[in-house]
Amino acid sequence: MEFDTITAISTPKGEGAIAIVRLSGDQAVQIANKLFKEKDLNIVDSHTIHYGHLVDPSTETIVEEVMVSVLRAPKTFTREDVVEINCHGGIYSVNKVLELVLSSGARLAEPGEFTKRAFLNGRIDLSQAEAVMDLIRSKTDRAMAIAMNQVEGRLSKMVSGLRQTLLEILAHIEVNIDYPEYDDVEEMTNTVLIEKAKTVQNEIQRLLETSKQGKILREGLSTVIIGRPNVGKSSLLNTLVQESKAIVTDIPGTTRDVIEEYVNVKGVPLRLIDTAGIRETKDVVEAIGVERSKKVLNLADLVLFVLNNNEQLTEEDRVLYNQMSGKDVIVIINKTDLPQNLDIEEVKQLVGNATIVTTSLKEEQGIEDLEKAIADLYFEGQIESQDLTYLSNARHIALLKQAESTINDATEAMRNGMPIDLVQIDLTRAWELLGEIIGDTVQESLINQLFSQFCLGK
Ligand code: GDP
Ligand code: ZN
Repeated sequence: MEFDTITAISTPKGEGAIAIVRLSGDQAVQIANKLFKEKDLNIVDSHTIHYGHLVDPSTETIVEEVMVSVLRAPKTFTREDVVEINCHGGIYSVNKVLELVLSSGARLAEPGEFTKRAFLNGRIDLSQAEAVMDLIRSKTDRAMAIAMNQVEGRLSKMVSGLRQTLLEILAHIEVNIDYPEYDDVEEMTNTVLIEKAKTVQNEIQRLLETSKQGKILREGLSTVIIGRPNVGKSSLLNTLVQESKAIVTDIPGTTRDVIEEYVNVKGVPLRLIDTAGIRETKDVVEAIGVERSKKVLNLADLVLFVLNNNEQLTEEDRVLYNQMSGKDVIVIINKTDLPQNLDIEEVKQLVGNATIVTTSLKEEQGIEDLEKAIADLYFEGQIESQDLTYLSNARHIALLKQAESTINDATEAMRNGMPIDLVQIDLTRAWELLGEIIGDTVQESLINQLFSQFCLGK
């Protein structure tokens, strides 16, 4: 395939210690060489890095002190020649370097174009390309681990395996139809074929069941802290923020997208709704009152409902709780260091099956229990397990659902003795749908749409 040479700043926006301008394409080395003063980059070994200066050819002046990496195809991310110019991270420096590269013959990359090339050049499949995007956006180590897993092709392998099984079934149907007298081929009865199709269906179902967790890990769990004034909401928020480990780790070549309102509770990213507001006004939950708390609640997956151990349950508590129907609620009975005036039985009557945790935020008691309760609610204690093939991508989920129902149609058809070519059509369709996950049967337009979601420079 023939592509022009593209370029972009591939480090995060804003001031950093260093920044990287990346080039990819046939002309990558020649273009960089036009600007590099000390050496002839055209003759250096591949995968070497060179210290020197960039010169503006129009004025012959030195513009930047740089380190230039020369990486020749095919052992590069895009499978094309790649040059990475490391320069000072200031906005002025980076833009100047980018400008020089552009005026020397490179074209500004579209969002996701580097990854798109890696895909088009056969370096990665579509689900892996999407995983790169997830990596860029991942909020916790665990979300990152899942994305990494996918980059390594774990989902692809599973999907390819399922497609292989479908192909085998299709092949047997084909043989049965075309060569009914052909004895050498083991004849598969409908029962066996249905069995086989069922295993594919079950596997897809199992994958789909992980999608809720996948979504949480990828997007964060929308969480609100609700409770009457003075029960300890702000204290709880502060505790969670303090306890929270580093939200994002450093992976070379990915943008770090640190978003402050995410806290990491045992690997579960909580997206605290209105956190900024809470911190700014110290107490948005109080400020918004019962009226608006309803609106905020609508946005939440998880509600942390705080009660005061030192006070009796009030009408206001009941009103607040009744607004939470349909949400996952964890009840936090706070201030256990103070005398108990809250009737726990009364609380249990109000909240039914919701998990109840007791804390003294003042004395830092019960925080571990709370964190465990949150993790258990969504991962049944398995968040630490090694099986990281959680589905998290909406497109994959939609395709798997369609494939699952198509296979279901096929097995039903077989059971009911429908004409075998109907079964064939359904199974072929399922095979195609699974193929779309790894980009095997996708059309050009879909590809463009997918890659345009990437950050620029990736
Ligand atoms: P909010 O109004 O619900 O946000 O509650 P705050 O977090 O602002 O806390 C209200 C008051 O209760 C503050 O003076 C806190 O220091 C205090 N407080 C919070 N948690 C505890 C606790 O576990 N025990 C005691 N004794 N006081 C607490
Ligand atoms: Zn407060």
